[in-house]
Amino acid sequence: GLAERLQGTLQKIRGKGKVNEADVKEMMREVRFALIEADVNLKVVREFVKKVSEKAVGQDVLKSLTPGQQVVKIVQDELTNLMGGEQEPIQFARKAPTVIMMVGLQGAGKTTTTGKLAALLRKRHNKKPLLVAADVYRPAAIQQLETLGKQLTIPVFSLGTDISPVDIVRQALEQAEKEHHDVVIVDTAGRLHVDETLMQELKDIQELATPDEVFLVVDAMTGQDAVNVAQNFNETVGISGVVLTKLDGDTRGGAALSIRSVTEKPIKFVGVGEHMDALEPFHPERMASRILGMGDVMSLIEKAQANVDEEKAKEMEEKFRTQTFTLDDFLDQLQQVKKMGPLDELLKMMPGANKIKGLENAQVDEKQMGRVEAVIQSMTPAERTTPEIINANRRRRIAKGSGTSIQEVNRLLKQFNDMKKMVKQMTNMQQKGNKRMKMP
Ligand code: GDP
Ligand code: MG
Repeated sequence: GLAERLQGTLQKIRGKGKVNEADVKEMMREVRFALIEADVNLKVVREFVKKVSEKAVGQDVLKSLTPGQQVVKIVQDELTNLMGGEQEPIQFARKAPTVIMMVGLQGAGKTTTTGKLAALLRKRHNKKPLLVAADVYRPAAIQQLETLGKQLTIPVFSLGTDISPVDIVRQALEQAEKEHHDVVIVDTAGRLHVDETLMQELKDIQELATPDEVFLVVDAMTGQDAVNVAQNFNETVGISGVVLTKLDGDTRGGAALSIRSVTEKPIKFVGVGEHMDALEPFHPERMASRILGMGDVMSLIEKAQANVDEEKAKEMEEKFRTQTFTLDDFLDQLQQVKKMGPLDELLKMMPGANKIKGLENAQVDEKQMGRVEAVIQSMTPAERTTPEIINANRRRRIAKGSGTSIQEVNRLLKQFNDMKKMVKQMTNMQQKGNKRMKMP
């Protein structure tokens, strides 16, 4: 993937004290390959490489004591810029209700995202959404939205399939007014391919509803196709933002990198799973560091904050920062994590998690988690804060006490150690990087 590819290249530079022009060239070649391999649009690649080269060959970088680190920083900054720089918030209407129209091809994730977005707006913005089932071609589509609505206890407006989408939306808006909904999200029909009839239908709905946001939902797994679809919709219907779904799978980063610069429309949200809480605001900077393999600590912490009380999350952040993370904290985390949802998604956000042996294809099983908990619970407080004291005798006792094996105890200690090392490396790197960048 792109992350590994870029990381390999950057690792070489990072290791070096000084970098010359030839090094930069060589690295740019690698970056170029990596981006093309990740299915990034060719034009985008060319511009990206040009920009990074210009900055990297600048004399400041070559004279600096840690040029490798500066080049990494430049690549990261440019990746961030490529994706729009800042997080772009949702545009609410001055006068309620805010109307959001979801458009996109069939299977992209429109209906799912409609539900997720409603849940997010209710939770984070205190909104009272109404969902509108305007996909009249498939009865199953209406049912799907109604099921999601029930699950979330968010009302769904539908009139079946014998009425035009425009009429449905008109009546839905009247209902929203009556029932004081401040957000209306319209789930529209998709097609397998972009076609004239669909585009006309969307334009008709648009004309009637004058939406505040038209979100194009695209499947990140389709790579370059997603970019073409985005361009197409943007030119014919006009969109205000993009939701990139299925970023949780084994997805190449290409779409995220190209969409913004090709359409000049921001990615506002990303879908990271099938659960109703698996929608996140898109942060270009975090995505860039994730692509570079530095892990997405901020997202992890934010996720924790949404589910755990603020206090705990702050404590955790501080512990990561000061590297005083103990096995007790680890246990605490495990227990919090259980509340947060699918573990493998969370692990992917941990810095360096993809490098920890046995975690790379993390199919984390919850039973296994129970055993890890048991192991830690069988340790004394001293052992939890200072795992170094756990000798062979203690290992035997812990295994016995937890009903596990010595191998399992060993494995846990090793994983904990690896994780601490990773976090330490990361923190060092970031601190150095920060210092360096602040110097004139
Ligand atoms: P629509 O045809 O555009 O309305 O697409 P749907 O909302 O019906 O979604 C199609 C499939 O993609 C469903 O099985 C969803 O569960 C799945 N899906 C949608 N978003 C995501 C996501 O972010 N991650 C994953 N893994 N699956 C998703
Ligand atoms: Mg649908």
